[in-house]
Amino acid sequence: MKISVLGTGYVGLSTGVCLAEIGHFVTCIDINQHKIGQLCQGKSPIYEPFLENLLLKNADEGRLKFTSSYLNGLEGTDIIILAVGTPQSEDGSADLSYIMKCAKDIAPHLTDGVTVVIKSTVPVGTNELVEKIIMSHCNNDITINMASNPEFLRQGSAINDTLHPDRIIIGANSKKVADKIEEMYLPLKAPIIKTSIRSAELIKYASNAFLATKISYINQIANLCEMVGADVNDIALGMGTDKRIGLSFLQAGIGYGGSCFPKDVKALHLTAEKHGIQFSLLKETMRINDEQQELLVKKAKKRFGSLKSKKIALFGLSFKPNTDDMREAPSIKIVRLLSNEGANVVAYDPVATHNAREVLGNMISYANSPEEAILDADAVFIVTDWDEFKHLNITNILKKMRCPIIFDGRNCLDESMLHLLEIGEYYPVGRPSVI
Ligand code: NAD
Repeated sequence: MKISVLGTGYVGLSTGVCLAEIGHFVTCIDINQHKIGQLCQGKSPIYEPFLENLLLKNADEGRLKFTSSYLNGLEGTDIIILAVGTPQSEDGSADLSYIMKCAKDIAPHLTDGVTVVIKSTVPVGTNELVEKIIMSHCNNDITINMASNPEFLRQGSAINDTLHPDRIIIGANSKKVADKIEEMYLPLKAPIIKTSIRSAELIKYASNAFLATKISYINQIANLCEMVGADVNDIALGMGTDKRIGLSFLQAGIGYGGSCFPKDVKALHLTAEKHGIQFSLLKETMRINDEQQELLVKKAKKRFGSLKSKKIALFGLSFKPNTDDMREAPSIKIVRLLSNEGANVVAYDPVATHNAREVLGNMISYANSPEEAILDADAVFIVTDWDEFKHLNITNILKKMRCPIIFDGRNCLDESMLHLLEIGEYYPVGRPSVI
């Protein structure tokens, strides 16, 4: 099939590359000419494991192209996939301006019978809105088919998730359109769930809000564990081994961040409110998460009394491991809180430093290694659970610090490492501290 993907962000680029990998002819279109320039040279503008190799392979084999021209990129295409951003508006709802502009701009280039698929996360009813915009800006004599095909990939494992999805949701109002999208995905041999367009749109929000709620739930259990002397890892194992609950998303820590959960929970809450449903469960999910992001600073204040002039080494800046994405990363709030307290922050992240500089500027210093970050530090905050931090020689790290204290926001250190601790203090989340 000939497929055009609009947007070369985490979703659009992963989708485009993987569709080429399974044999389609794909053109990725982005209005960001800098990104297109990099992509044309075989460079990925984002850090995502395996992405660049697959990009080069499929470009070399002639199945993957990049352009910023709608005219070239949409010519003769069977399916157009919209994967542009839907960030949060000021009022918390999804900002649909990129998707609306896309609809308006592609309309004059569409040919009769083309299928337009919305992969971006969009509130219920958006497909209908996009169809109206396209129809009012295209040549009068064409018909188009709309479909919703929300994306569930996770940054950091985007390629694997795209090639091996748990399921593919196809929302369409006719069997013919749903079958066409199914055909596109056939080589993946993934379970397909066909629904109405509105159901497909809502499935995405319902899933993300549920996962975020699961995280806030285990984080509150972790806070209770600290009060009653229980261990949240044991609780999570005991709960999660029950098949009805499942082990994933039961890792206690300093809360969720990223470009999806925070905005999607807010947007779903607003959609419910707009339709007269008081979804207060989601309000609590958000409140708990906001508070949880403050946890390490609160613990450090309790330990030190004041954080003024203390040197804090942050391990990790990205919102999760294996990505360079800083959107809504808990590290941002932690840095702001520490700055307000008068602390000096030195941060190390394996890949997100470049993006972090754009958000945090010179509020903090940036180190090139964990060892550089901890020199003379009063405390380490583990903020992102990069594998690199799980394999550090912690005793060596502690020896080089002014005060050998670790506040672990991701429970990175396991039992086998803790018993190696000869000096220092270790404060995990929802687990007994080692003092
Ligand atoms: P992103 O911000 O990384 O990328 C969006 C891209 O779209 C940018 O490169 C931008 O230049 C481009 N763009 C904007 N307007 C355009 C236009 N008119 N024509 C062509 N390109 C245009 O976004 P993302 O993280 O890939 O997310 C995209 C959508 O997928 C969002 O709705 C998001 O909620 C959803 N989603 C994201 C993830 C994730 O993990 N990032 C997972 C599932 C779903």
